[in-house]
Amino acid sequence: MTRMNDSPLLRRLAGLGAGLVLASTVFAAESPGELLLTGTRIYVSPDTPPIDGGAVLVRDGKIAAVGAMQARGVTPSAECSGGVVMAGFNNSHVHFMRDRWSDVQRKPAAELNRSLAEMLTRYGYTTVVDTGSNRDDTLALRTRIERGELEGPRILMVGEPLFPPQGIPIYLLDLPAHARERFAQPADAAAAVAVVDANFDAGANGTKLFLVTPQRQGRNASMPREIARAAAERTHRRGGFVMAHPTNLDGVRAALDARVDVLTHTTLGSEAPWPDELLRDVVAADMAMIPTLKLLGHELKKQDVPDEIAQRLTVAALKSVGTFVAAGGTVVFGTDVGYMTDFDPTEEYVLLARAGLDTMQILASLTTTPAARWGESERRGRLRPGMDADIVVLGVDPASDPGSFASVRCTIRGGRIIYAKTRS
Ligand SMILES: [Zn+2]
Repeated sequence: MTRMNDSPLLRRLAGLGAGLVLASTVFAAESPGELLLTGTRIYVSPDTPPIDGGAVLVRDGKIAAVGAMQARGVTPSAECSGGVVMAGFNNSHVHFMRDRWSDVQRKPAAELNRSLAEMLTRYGYTTVVDTGSNRDDTLALRTRIERGELEGPRILMVGEPLFPPQGIPIYLLDLPAHARERFAQPADAAAAVAVVDANFDAGANGTKLFLVTPQRQGRNASMPREIARAAAERTHRRGGFVMAHPTNLDGVRAALDARVDVLTHTTLGSEAPWPDELLRDVVAADMAMIPTLKLLGHELKKQDVPDEIAQRLTVAALKSVGTFVAAGGTVVFGTDVGYMTDFDPTEEYVLLARAGLDTMQILASLTTTPAARWGESERRGRLRPGMDADIVVLGVDPASDPGSFASVRCTIRGGRIIYAKTRS
């Protein structure tokens, strides 16, 4: 680690430990591969009090030091300093679907970079989970990002999702026939395991199960339990995570039965409260939930549901998330963008706060909780020396307004600025 000792700034920061660092001497100008961010406030993690007036030093893609300091003579990043600094965000429910993301292999980099910024990086997402899209397009996108051709987040993905037999949900019927034909609807456990294997062989990190899907005339299709169980068991055996779309309370029960890791929605569009026993079982099984509260309003508007009913359904959804959190349930942040064409997450943050999550709980759902869920706590989720330099800089402190989790000034992934407001 000779190089690390070469930096006077780093020596100063590291030598005095992660706590208080008062740097009054004149440092050398920043060296290549180094990035210094000063901030009015630094949220080191959701479980530690923030540091007011601090700095984060990045070196070679890793966080080198974090502390309270006054740097003089060092050149902090002009475009990313002076804001509120925290670990990079996870959006654990996105899709790369429809024209914007089709034929990724051949699309010009500039066009894809614009799409990545509009949907993801301008909102601070350094890791996203694709919960079901055209597998080849997402793989191509991931490859081009990892090669450095595109400025984008890290992508974890489930590959092709699994639907019940004859169970494509009505809200996906508007997709072109060639897209729908790809949808896997395994007829038995062996066929489900084959789909999981094909996804993992291609590079997927998890599996997505549509356990209950709405059909025409108010009917629902359900995935047979043995199919869900077999797919989930295979996924776990391959070291992956299982996500499930529950739709209603039966879907939540099916998810428990299959030992699903993350529900991709709460039970949206239903007024039925979760029975206490089910709530207890979900919490005991440590099954996390991605609320996707903004999506509900979006869907109800699409279906011309009268305002009064929409209000009632929204209150019911807020309540289901609130009681889940109060019972000790784990929330993972996600918005369903890509399916939802309005990308702005401001409303989701406001709704989570209305459901009862405080600033630190929302921050945890964006950082430490998903990192733990994907088995990456040692590398991501907090600002700690040695961790990947995935960092978000906000313009406004979310403690005063939860919507400002969306007012991003800079997004940094692996030490590289992948979004800066001043450049857009
Ligand atoms: Zn979705």
